[in-house]
Amino acid sequence: NTFAEIDLGELLNQNIRRCKYVKPTPIQRHAIPIELAGRDLMACAQTGSGKTAAFCFPIISGIMREQYVQRPYVARTVYPLALILSPTRELSCQIHDEARKFSYQTGVKVVVAYGGAPINQQLRELDRGVDILVATPGRLVDLLERARLSLQMIRYLALDEADRMLDMGFEPQIRKIVEQMDMPNRGVRQTMLFSATFPREIQRLASDFLSNYIFLAV
Ligand code: AMP
Repeated sequence: NTFAEIDLGELLNQNIRRCKYVKPTPIQRHAIPIELAGRDLMACAQTGSGKTAAFCFPIISGIMREQYVQRPYVARTVYPLALILSPTRELSCQIHDEARKFSYQTGVKVVVAYGGAPINQQLRELDRGVDILVATPGRLVDLLERARLSLQMIRYLALDEADRMLDMGFEPQIRKIVEQMDMPNRGVRQTMLFSATFPREIQRLASDFLSNYIFLAV
């Protein structure tokens, strides 16, 4: 019932202690072992349940092992290994802040991109390298259209507050984004879908995006 008992690696465990997390919350206790086993996950969890860490820890732990994989070299194109989609600028920034604390001294680079802010600054940030990209769907589609970012190497995809993203009308953008990952990469990607509710539209996303997934409700 402590993080040390879960196989996240010593560096990540140090960062977790530094954040003063002692005991995993229920969603963390159940989701993290499923994710570390490489399974796709559909999780019903509310804000405040600790879901951010529930998807960040396994992603960071996986990327620490994989960040040295060979990525294609195409001038001015970056290849993140993980993508976290979230509905709003506020939530994206919050996830980015937490993910950065958890990845302190791991060498894992986390970048955030959201709409309503100048895109050039975000492009410059991306140019310096990115392992984990946290983004809102609309801005991510803009970045993809500029062909400066490729999702070809994505190993981990997390969709946070998926029901809210659909309420905001982001379904076409989300489908477009996931399609780009599927072309070269199907079967390699691990996908985690988090939603407070589980209506028919979310069930459909789950069956389209996840393979052989585990359903978790806390
Ligand atoms: P979230 O549901 O991810 O937005 O997290 C809600 C709040 O709980 C955030 O401020 C987290 O930093 C905090 N938190 C998450 N997991 C833990 C934990 N295991 N121990 C203590 N605080 C936590």
